[in-house]
Amino acid sequence: MRKTALLAIATMTSFAAVSLHATAQGEQWEKDKSYKLTILHTNDNHGRFWSNRHGEYGMAARKTLVDSIRAEVAAAGGELLLLSGGDINTGVPESDLQDAEPDFKGMAQIGYDAMAIGNHEFDNKLSVIRKQESWVNFPFLAANIYDESTKERLFKPYKVFQKGDLRIAVMGLTTEDTKKLGNPEFMGNIAFTKPVDEAKKLLPELKAKADVVIAATHMGHYKDASFGINAPGDVTLARSVPGIDMIIGGHSQDPVCTDAQGALISKYKAGMACMPDSQNGTLIMQAHEWGKYVGRADLEFKNGELNLVSYQLIPVNLKKKVKNAEGKKVRVLIADEIAEDQKLKDFLKPFQEQGQEQLQQKIGSVDGKLEGDRGVVRFQPTNMGHLIALAQMDKVAADLAVMNSGGIRDSIAEGDITYKDVLKVQPFANVVSFVELTGAELWDYLAVVASKPVDSGAFAQFAGVDLVITGGELKSAKIKGQDIDKAKTYRMAINSYIASGGDKYPAMNKHAGYVNSGFVDADVLKGYIESHSPLSAKAHDKGNVVRN
Ligand SMILES: [Zn+2]
Repeated sequence: MRKTALLAIATMTSFAAVSLHATAQGEQWEKDKSYKLTILHTNDNHGRFWSNRHGEYGMAARKTLVDSIRAEVAAAGGELLLLSGGDINTGVPESDLQDAEPDFKGMAQIGYDAMAIGNHEFDNKLSVIRKQESWVNFPFLAANIYDESTKERLFKPYKVFQKGDLRIAVMGLTTEDTKKLGNPEFMGNIAFTKPVDEAKKLLPELKAKADVVIAATHMGHYKDASFGINAPGDVTLARSVPGIDMIIGGHSQDPVCTDAQGALISKYKAGMACMPDSQNGTLIMQAHEWGKYVGRADLEFKNGELNLVSYQLIPVNLKKKVKNAEGKKVRVLIADEIAEDQKLKDFLKPFQEQGQEQLQQKIGSVDGKLEGDRGVVRFQPTNMGHLIALAQMDKVAADLAVMNSGGIRDSIAEGDITYKDVLKVQPFANVVSFVELTGAELWDYLAVVASKPVDSGAFAQFAGVDLVITGGELKSAKIKGQDIDKAKTYRMAINSYIASGGDKYPAMNKHAGYVNSGFVDADVLKGYIESHSPLSAKAHDKGNVVRN
């Protein structure tokens, strides 16, 4: 429960000598005065320090936008906090190759106040995370990450910000799924406790120290708390721990928007009105991904009450396709163009150039051609098809993997392999995902995808499963030499494109057993090549599909 103004007055009387409106809890706000507070937020940056090739998003434009809001808020006598819902790492080779140095240093220059730690921060060793902390001047917050041997927290659980007369506590919470999603090599001595339990424990302490309590989380927003096989997310947190004023989230990479009636908007488009989700008196916000938007909540604090005055997801140079006079599709800005901050752009540029240079370096080698030519890979199983599927299967510890041949865009010649070669094979930056299916569901899925015709992008490549197809009909499917058991559960790796129904594959992304791992396909293939080189081209020449 929020402290009422009345209670504040009651506790104040005996301390009148200290300060007119100070209380035993250290409150400094004045009765009946209204305070303006603006919270800005982003999440799931995933290496997008640079704008894309259409000039969308990017940190230099984000800085201009944030600076202008800062000036506006300051002129109106308000206070401002800029928070991130985490997952700064992983997604763009130029960033990944440099441990996201441009992203973190860019955040420091934009002036972030705190961030939640995301699961993808653990794609790196703890020593890299410590290095990243040293690049910034704000805390990485996580109340539920512990060193297993010392039982000590690895990060600050929260920070209290003094903003004028207001004290704002921000605590960090990270999805427990990090343990299963992150790189197992780096997880050895790290424990993730339940965010709800930690928040319950911390809340009384934060309520005593601050006037406003915010949770910066990386747990995902799941409609009506239906989180499927994922760990519980922000809606569960809000419903389980009453008294958190706001949750600034991430992880599910949604624009969390409700309409005027409070119903979630499932197909949000940039430029539409957006209100945060509200659960159990807690506002829940998330700004999609990649810095495509800056979320802006303008609030008023008065007599111990915090109220939302307005909310926006501000698009950062996002564009939409429209037909021009000649009927050609062109991209046009959705809102007014935000100029890039030249100083930040100049700072980031050498990182972009350095990253592109690093793409040319050798990552491994192969003793023969890896076949990805369109005229072959769309007609028969190839070693490239098997290698890609195997790399994805391996990454998410799946029993099998399915890959659409339309997502394979080039071959790799015998000899040295560079990251650039890999990006030519898989240029779409699809995300490796997995879905847990019963044997019966798996059989039905395989029956559909195995019958996709040759000479189409839908033609499937496999790893981890041996199939016999007679006259287009699935006759046998074996995993590790065993027929699929219809009652058992299997984990199947697929990419986000086919998971969402691309190439007319059965959509899996709404299945309760679906998990988006966040790992980009080309990065996964690169990792596999690095750790298995020199590769044998023959070893991947698996005729795992018999068609007769
Ligand atoms: Zn995440």
